[in-house]
Amino acid sequence: MIINDSNRHKGLRNQLVRTIKAKGIKDKSVLDAVSKVPRHLFMDSGFIDFAYQDKPFPIGADQTISQPYTVAFQTELLKVEPGQKILEIGTGSGYQTAILIELKAEVYSIERQKELYTKVKKFLPKVGYVPKKLVFGDGYLGLPEHASFDGIIVTAGAPFVPKPLLEQLKIGGRLVIPVGDEVQVMTVFTRTGEKKFEKHEYGDFRFVPMLKEKN
Ligand code: SAH
Repeated sequence: MIINDSNRHKGLRNQLVRTIKAKGIKDKSVLDAVSKVPRHLFMDSGFIDFAYQDKPFPIGADQTISQPYTVAFQTELLKVEPGQKILEIGTGSGYQTAILIELKAEVYSIERQKELYTKVKKFLPKVGYVPKKLVFGDGYLGLPEHASFDGIIVTAGAPFVPKPLLEQLKIGGRLVIPVGDEVQVMTVFTRTGEKKFEKHEYGDFRFVPMLKEKN
């Protein structure tokens, strides 16, 4: 693939950064990451003109690339430090994965749609984003063989909080997860002890559902 990232794209990205800043995103490292990741390359070619609007878009297999504001909001809540081990549930287009890699995280990511997994596995390294591990599997189970994680981010709406994800956090680690059926409440669980978690809620969002059964 020829990496087509022009000054026009960069200008649109800077505008997107101003938009999400105006909506409340403050973390400079997150804003910098959004200014760097060429979102237009993560979308189907028919939607390229819309890549820098602050909106979700279809990416195939009935899934969407999340809205940039939502990606930034969740990433801000995750409080990523360079070198940290982060697990993402729902690789999708790989956009959120790339944002985490820009923040110098070691990223493990799980996707349950084979079509998207196959596509993103080829695509990410081509645009210079190399995750530690991409897995085709069920995010409800987490990745016990690679646990524990400094942070876990769920990018689909979870009807309930999967226990394995809480168990796979390091002490001090954070799980950022939208919880609910039709509408989800953005929720952060911080592991403060072996069996102790603190819970905070951050308002309503709408995600595609986290799916239970594999195809
Ligand atoms: N992070 C993605 C968001 C994609 S939408 C991006 O930036 O583009 C949510 C994704 O979660 C979809 O790709 C969907 O297939 C995936 N998903 C849904 N249920 C899942 C599950 N149980 N395990 C892993 N991935 C899941």
